[in-house]
Amino acid sequence: MDKVIVITGGSRGIGAATALLAARQGYKICINYLADDAAAHEVLEQVRALGALAISVRADVSNEDEVISLFLRVDQELGPVTALVNNAGTVGHKSRLEEMSEFRVLHTLKTNVLGPILCAKHAVLRMSPRYGGQGGNIVNVSSVAARLGSPGEYVDYAASKGALDAFTIGLSKELAGEGIRVNAVRPGYIFTDFHALSGDPGRVSKLESMIPMGRGGRPEEVAEAIVWLLSDKASYATGTFVDMAGGR
Ligand code: NAP
Repeated sequence: MDKVIVITGGSRGIGAATALLAARQGYKICINYLADDAAAHEVLEQVRALGALAISVRADVSNEDEVISLFLRVDQELGPVTALVNNAGTVGHKSRLEEMSEFRVLHTLKTNVLGPILCAKHAVLRMSPRYGGQGGNIVNVSSVAARLGSPGEYVDYAASKGALDAFTIGLSKELAGEGIRVNAVRPGYIFTDFHALSGDPGRVSKLESMIPMGRGGRPEEVAEAIVWLLSDKASYATGTFVDMAGGR
């Protein structure tokens, strides 16, 4: 069976590193993104240069109509999805709870919780033997914020990742008898452009002294854990969390 991977938020950071690693491991690849056409195109060219059949698809993961269109494109151009990486995520500016608007909190929850739930739903409709599928794998990209809480910075983001962890546990049990494994990685401070969203692009470098290993992580290090969890080498792992946080 062909390995077909959908990576949400695959145009930058951890998602892009995952796309490049998956290309080296023989996956057909769908790079999803929200807005940055140029970044998505660049990653698309890189994975194609590695010999992978690949497409890039703009879709907001928090909008079900767009998620439906995304998976239909994958069906038509790559074949049914066998691996989903729920990686797209967002965070608001560093602030205390009292300063957070309803819009900001809803945007965070919609992107980080509703998005992965919708994408998992449409992947399961293709993976589960109930609907003619042959099993598959889902990896959710959570955060160590789920267990640290991010006080004074973005408790809404931490709460969204806590919800994603609960979803990972529940869905893993729901699907364990259907040949679908569901796991999560929880990165710590990783060098990507994500931190610009919180208003501090240099955040990881500034905080390195607080990390037990004394350095921030690279997106490629997180990608290794994601691709391992998707692989048969992790065949008995479901409902599992791999923290990639340098000891935090
Ligand atoms: P990043 O560099 O900011 O990339 C985010 C990606 O998500 C981009 O491709 C972006 O597309 C896409 N995206 C955002 N909202 C989307 C939506 N509604 N629909 C579809 N795509 C959307 O982020 P990253 O650092 O690689 O983070 C990836 C994941 O790791 C996130 O879930 C994040 O919470 C988690 N994480 C990151 C860190 C860290 O230190 N970097 C730590 C812990 C957890 P556009 O560019 O087109 O908008």
